[in-house]
Amino acid sequence: MDAAILSRKADFPGLVTASGAPWHYLDTAATAQKPQCVIDAVTKAIGVDYATVHRGVYSRSAEMTQAYEAARRRVAAFVGGGEAEIVFTRGATEAINLVAYSYPEKGRVLLSQLEHHSNIVPWQLAGWQVDVCPLTEDGKIDLDAAEAMLTGEHTMVAFAHVSNVLGSTLDAKRAAELAHSVGAKLLLDGCQAVPRLPVNVAEIGCDFYAFSGHKLYGPTGIGALWGRAELLDAMPPWQGGGAMIDRVTFEKTTFGPPPERFEAGTPAIVEALGMAAACDYVDAVGREAIHAHEAALVRTLRDALQPMNDVRLFGPEDSAGIVSFELQGVHPHDLGTILDEENVAIRAGHHCAQPLMHYYDVPGTARASFGLYSDQSDIDALLKGIERTRRIFG
Ligand code: PMP
Repeated sequence: MDAAILSRKADFPGLVTASGAPWHYLDTAATAQKPQCVIDAVTKAIGVDYATVHRGVYSRSAEMTQAYEAARRRVAAFVGGGEAEIVFTRGATEAINLVAYSYPEKGRVLLSQLEHHSNIVPWQLAGWQVDVCPLTEDGKIDLDAAEAMLTGEHTMVAFAHVSNVLGSTLDAKRAAELAHSVGAKLLLDGCQAVPRLPVNVAEIGCDFYAFSGHKLYGPTGIGALWGRAELLDAMPPWQGGGAMIDRVTFEKTTFGPPPERFEAGTPAIVEALGMAAACDYVDAVGREAIHAHEAALVRTLRDALQPMNDVRLFGPEDSAGIVSFELQGVHPHDLGTILDEENVAIRAGHHCAQPLMHYYDVPGTARASFGLYSDQSDIDALLKGIERTRRIFG
């Protein structure tokens, strides 16, 4: 492995078992463990600093309002957007639902074969016509095929920036150019990209970017939609309630500007502050460094698995932080259960990407996903557990 190694396990109190043994957590693509600084930020926000936002006339509420809006600026800066362009949501799922329901020009959307259910089902429910872009042989979204498929009927292209199953990274700039060439908008599902790649929406040229706090070493229950200001401005609200209005009468209600227009009710105040603390932490470590670190771990694990005759690897060589594989003759759930006995946590199953499983004709895969705290000891424990599983299954 190269010099890109980070040594960050000590920042994460969750990385030990109840008896104090090392816990080899290889399920960061599902949700990341939390560093102490995020835990501290959340504890402070829900404890000594706690008050509601946007309503109180007393000073604690005014301070919390400032902190909540500072969190919005922090999250905006994290992806290179403007602060009025960040809508806090419950997560990426809610962010994508918001666009699917509220984007005024509902028409055809081009998705890809590798999308997470969160980037399939909202479009179906909101009444879009769905087209599906195929993958290249090594499991990337085939942008040549996308170019051939896109027509003036498409008003949206919605692709994963990084696949949660294969780790494939999209050429996002080219995807934006292709979408725009037919007058469509590009929404990127950035859930798996923001924790492991430097992301700048202005450089990419996309129109919407959805991501979750909990995959970014922050709390659950918070995420964000970045949307181009003029697009958010043209979108009607999708949920009604307090905080998103301008004036309410029984006859007629008018609405506030974005982002408030899309944040009905008391927001996830504590979680937003936790997400901002997570952005600080990730940027202090450095996303280039995280990317290089995870790339080195992926190379090491793939190199170890590749020569094994009973292992099928999925996804490209340059997968971002994620290694999906099948141990032939062993159901992924059995592998996951045996690994758990060795204090190794992997994900086994369809990873909320059933169409991708159908495409590869497998019931599911085993998935090891890395975070900035992962290291060689996690890979060693995984390989030892695979060896033991093989012995058990003869
Ligand atoms: N998209 C991708 C690529 C994901 O990995 C996930 C989470 N597994 C989601 C969307 C949904 O994120 P959340 O559950 O945080 O809303």
